[in-house]
Amino acid sequence: MLITHDTECALDILVDLLNTAPEAGGHEALPDLAALRDFVLRHRISDVGPLGAQDLESVRQVRRTFLEIYGATTARQAADLLNAVMARAGTTPRLTDHDGHDWHMHYFAPGAALADHLAVEAAMALAFIVVAGERERLRRCEAPSCARVFVDLSRNRSRRYCDSRTCGNRLHVAAYRARQREASPAPVPAG
Ligand SMILES: [Zn+2]
Ligand SMILES: [Zn+2]
Repeated sequence: MLITHDTECALDILVDLLNTAPEAGGHEALPDLAALRDFVLRHRISDVGPLGAQDLESVRQVRRTFLEIYGATTARQAADLLNAVMARAGTTPRLTDHDGHDWHMHYFAPGAALADHLAVEAAMALAFIVVAGERERLRRCEAPSCARVFVDLSRNRSRRYCDSRTCGNRLHVAAYRARQREASPAPVPAG
């Protein structure tokens, strides 16, 4: 699958945003403006002005919308929802090489509110996934009592668990057991 670096970054941000929701990560990880500012800094999101209470509410609304899109059962449902987001938030494609990055596309309108910025970039990234016919890569962790989301970018689409500490361990243990099975000779039948 051809997926550009900026699409991958946008998907990373989206997954992280969705996992801040109680329905995915298990608790509210964007409880206040400080948490939202931290989210912006952690992902080095560019062109973000001063944030207020309205931004927090709007970002949580975007999060709800994208949880719905992420869980869409058909490509058509996902496409309809994505089209609505792109129409509402205003998509403005332009090339940029800000902050020493190579040339890449930005789709949010200059000066857009943080929620619109996040919505537009996430919508475009998911639009590429829909176009590529790769929606099955949008996964939920299969570990019991974990509902975190992740995008499986593995070559053979075999990833089943998120990379949280507990599930990440599960991932390593599964890989270790698989290697052991391959390495050890078949058991000699008794009798
Ligand atoms: Zn950029
Ligand atoms: Zn998990």
